[in-house]
Amino acid sequence: MDDLSTFCCQNPDCPDHGKRGHGNLTVCMRYGRHQRRLLYCKTCKARFSERKGTPLFDSRLPQGTVVSVLHHIAEGCGIRQTGRLCGVKKDTVSRYSLLAGDHAQQLHDELVAFSPQHR
Ligand SMILES: [Zn+2]
Repeated sequence: MDDLSTFCCQNPDCPDHGKRGHGNLTVCMRYGRHQRRLLYCKTCKARFSERKGTPLFDSRLPQGTVVSVLHHIAEGCGIRQTGRLCGVKKDTVSRYSLLAGDHAQQLHDELVAFSPQHR
């Protein structure tokens, strides 16, 4: 059984939008190389990726690299410095830092969801 307690419905019009661990979500399928889960909300019948709403959604970089980039930025490294340390392009760093700025709370929850006790 999948633990979906860290996820919530991403449909802003849904009565259960943003409620984590509410029991309204199920996994309707897995997709892609990394078997990402497609989640289904029983309340509003919406389907969405488990990564929707986070900077990791639709990311072509490995998850570890994205986390590393964002961690450097959070620690106050500049964009160039972060790019050099993580081995990614400056443009990539700025793109993720912008996304993370918009989604800082979700990112936090996402990272907490990936902590070892949940794996
Ligand atoms: Zn919903």
